[in-house]
Amino acid sequence: MRKLVIITACIIFAAAASGCRPEQQTDFEPAAKNHVALNTVNRITIYDKSRRDAEMILDAAFGRIDEIEAAMSLYVDESEINQINRQAGVRSVQVSSETFELLLLAEESARISQGAFDPTIGPLVTAWGISSDNPKIPDDEELDALLELVNYRNLVMEQPDRVFLVREGMKLDLGGIAKGYAADEAKRIIREMGSSSALINLGGNILLVGSKPDGTPWRIGVQDPHNSRGRYIVIITLKGGTVVTSGTYERYFFDNHIRYHHILDTSTGFPADTGLESVTIVTENSAYADALSTAAFVLGLEKGFEFIESLQDVEAVFITEDQRVFKTSGFSSPDLGVSLSHDDYRIIEGSPQQNTPK
Ligand code: ADP
Ligand code: MG
Repeated sequence: MRKLVIITACIIFAAAASGCRPEQQTDFEPAAKNHVALNTVNRITIYDKSRRDAEMILDAAFGRIDEIEAAMSLYVDESEINQINRQAGVRSVQVSSETFELLLLAEESARISQGAFDPTIGPLVTAWGISSDNPKIPDDEELDALLELVNYRNLVMEQPDRVFLVREGMKLDLGGIAKGYAADEAKRIIREMGSSSALINLGGNILLVGSKPDGTPWRIGVQDPHNSRGRYIVIITLKGGTVVTSGTYERYFFDNHIRYHHILDTSTGFPADTGLESVTIVTENSAYADALSTAAFVLGLEKGFEFIESLQDVEAVFITEDQRVFKTSGFSSPDLGVSLSHDDYRIIEGSPQQNTPK
């Protein structure tokens, strides 16, 4: 049942993207394919190739995504991540250069967000059973013990290719960044194989390749979590780049009528409870955007907003549970804008600090 909820959410998100299909200005019909990987539904659309060429590109891109899952998933026993995890507190493990690179980015994201994003979140994720069929609420004692193990400073990166988790019981989980990385890699493959107009949608994380065939900006919707029929709260217009959302509605379970979602606060061990519904990041690199969306969500509206404003070439849209929408200062041109598409929400100009909560 829970899996069903997840898959439905993803299909809706996929519709968000393809619903914004550009006017046809190339000789080709858009060619799209779905593929289940990384615990979600992925969809890639190629706009500028014949059906036959597009099929080859799509298969190669999805093949690459499967490779990333095999190397980086916590849910694949022999993944490099699990090899590191099994040697926690014992010894360092040699990994591929790409896993090493992604871990460096994860570590950097943890550092700049002061641990709001933390790739050593694994023990907590496992205890909550976030992606399992039997999620549960760990008791306070268990949480206290697990929180001791979550600390990116105890992840030691030994150049050029060895990784060591200092304490026994530590566990990496790249669930908050791997999807973005997979999108970046799919984009690289798509480009290398000659397409310069495509849309990559990995479970709602969007990465654009080139421009829309008709030259107008892309339009990407941010989903309304209360409505499963593909309604959007805002539409983001952009020339290119990535649009990555972290929200409470992607994965969750109920216990005693209380909803527990999958983005964990590294200071409490509980699902982050900051009054936010979602955070959407817009920037170039999708792995970075993925980590930042998780980080900003955990930091909450005020701190998260300030954090994103402090970064170069990164913009964000924050949507609160009380239906307010905040956007960072870079959304200010026809090439990069946010427009409302839902009557129950309102866009608040300026920063959250300038606006006292209602
Ligand atoms: P989604 O997977 O829905 O796109 P996120 O990018 O926010 O959402 O990633 C959430 C996943 O990241 C969780 O399922 C878990 O595996 C992991 N995670 C949860 N909390 C954190 C955190 N504070 N820091 C890093 N990773 C996290
Ligand atoms: Mg993320």
